[in-house]
Amino acid sequence: MDLSYIINQLGEDREQYFNAIAPPIMQSSNFAFKSVGEMRELLQDEYKGFLYTRGNNPTIEILRKKLAALDGAEDALIFGSGAAAIFATVLSQVKQGDHIVSVRDPYNWAGQLFTQILPRFGVETTFVDGTDTANFRNAIKPNTRVIYLESPNSFTFELQDIAAVAALAKEKEIVSIIDNSYCTPIFQRPHDLGIDLCLQSATKFISGHSDTMAGVLTGRQEVIRKIFASELLNIGSGIAPFNAWLLLRGLRTLEIRLERSACSTEKICAWLKEQPGIEKIFFPMDAGFPQYELAKKQMSGAAGLLTIQLKASRREQVEAFCNGLQRFLMAVSWGGHESLAFPACASLAESEFDPTLEKHRMVRLYIGLEDPDTLIADLEQALQLIR
Ligand SMILES: *Cc1c(COP(=O)(O)O)cnc(C)c1O
Repeated sequence: MDLSYIINQLGEDREQYFNAIAPPIMQSSNFAFKSVGEMRELLQDEYKGFLYTRGNNPTIEILRKKLAALDGAEDALIFGSGAAAIFATVLSQVKQGDHIVSVRDPYNWAGQLFTQILPRFGVETTFVDGTDTANFRNAIKPNTRVIYLESPNSFTFELQDIAAVAALAKEKEIVSIIDNSYCTPIFQRPHDLGIDLCLQSATKFISGHSDTMAGVLTGRQEVIRKIFASELLNIGSGIAPFNAWLLLRGLRTLEIRLERSACSTEKICAWLKEQPGIEKIFFPMDAGFPQYELAKKQMSGAAGLLTIQLKASRREQVEAFCNGLQRFLMAVSWGGHESLAFPACASLAESEFDPTLEKHRMVRLYIGLEDPDTLIADLEQALQLIR
């Protein structure tokens, strides 16, 4: 993969816009035709060109080409959010009476789709522990249409053996879908491992600046074309040209941001392991991670997102640590320039906190682009607040 070419050149036709280095934001909802014949052609198949921005738009198309190439795929669609990409993709592959096998505890809104929305239309989902490929095989039924993966997940980072599950899906003629948000195509290339449809939240690393929402789906052109003409156009879940432009801008520095974050994360992990107030750390590229060997096999790196488990016997102690952080901001999401902390106990009612449950003492950290020593100093002073 010629990453520099993809990021700086691919899809950019500068002569079309006065040789400007940065492409214009084509802020237009519709496009005019010179003849009825031309208009008829696009009305019959909107995929072929520019008719209406709900479908395609020149700024969005540059981004589609780059993101498809980054994934090593034939084509890409861009959605208004990662959740929209998940919804449209799964919806496109199932009908009434079908069955899905999903890794357990997928991203929250993927879980909601499987447990709350699809059952209303007669589509059932079985959740499996994805650390053992045999669990997928055992859950497959004659009506299974989709295997849904998320590797690693974004809190405790359990992996699935992507090549093995993809091979199983092929053998059974089941569509495989993966959420690749954690790795991005820089660190993990699911299509090379045999996955059919690869999606990610571009809100995170692709944008990289915590200023826009988007989702990406990549796959074979034939499949992407069908999803374009049906789910994308019908749900109206595409992206606005300005947001596409922000993502193009974010992409220019994707590799260097990930490198910086990965480097700081390694340093901070090493420091965290020495701290008596920390019981455990979860990070797939840490040698102590239970699936470290698999991580090394299918991922070329990891950046930023890790989880710490605090030694604490009361909720107040976890909260004192989080409330005391000065440089880490307390927020959901990740992938931006800024470091973040997300305590699991923020999702619990105060009375639900149970110090004997490891999960309740976990705080997810995202290491942004700041000086790692500044971040370490911040963690150090906050750990001292646990009394
Ligand atoms: C954030 C996230 C999503 C959803 O993306 P949005 O852009 O927030 O809709 C999906 N999967 C994972 C793993 C995520 O972290």
